[in-house]
Amino acid sequence: MLSKKPGQPGSNPVWVWTLGAPVESATNLRASAPPGPIRSVPTFGVTPICFAPPKLPNARPKGDPFDIHTWSFPFSVLPEDDWKTGARRFGADRSGGRKHAGCDLYFPEGTAIHALADGVLIQEPYSFYAKTHAVEVRHGNHVVRYGEIKPGSYVGGQKVKQGQVIAKVGHLVGIKVPSDMLHLELYEGTATGALTTSTAPYKRRSDLLDPTKYLNEWSKRLPTPW
Ligand SMILES: [Zn+2]
Repeated sequence: MLSKKPGQPGSNPVWVWTLGAPVESATNLRASAPPGPIRSVPTFGVTPICFAPPKLPNARPKGDPFDIHTWSFPFSVLPEDDWKTGARRFGADRSGGRKHAGCDLYFPEGTAIHALADGVLIQEPYSFYAKTHAVEVRHGNHVVRYGEIKPGSYVGGQKVKQGQVIAKVGHLVGIKVPSDMLHLELYEGTATGALTTSTAPYKRRSDLLDPTKYLNEWSKRLPTPW
């Protein structure tokens, strides 16, 4: 817009171009500047306006719950037995040539399980191995099966928040010790349909992931005890 601005007392008004918001005229800017040589900048009749450089948004804001590298551990303490070795590890042999489709985190029955990230419940608790239950939660694109939880212990609701207690560790009836654990399965979310399939050796959906390296990362972020 072209607006008429008053100049210094006694001087003629100055016409200046502005971009919407009124700005001081060149005369007034000069009047308030500290004493010293004034550098002349050609303005071609337009009052120069300084803009801050545009801020580029981060591709992934810090703390994005859907970034799998920002998820947290499902327990407020680390288990005594790691999830990388023995029968607990992903890919460990199971009966009938089947391979273990997740990682087992051994904790006493009833230990609080925390949500790995913000998410949405996509499969309500259902019967799983040895009289335990499982629930399926979508965290962003990924799907997690929290398996071998205590029946009736799911308290997560339809939406879960990262770190929120969602269930309790279950007890596998009729399985030799140790038999209290969270069995955690991770899926990339690129396939659809039931997580359990007849496809050997894991008997799981094609987008099954090995959660080991992610658990290693998440173990550095423990949720608040409950
Ligand atoms: Zn397991």
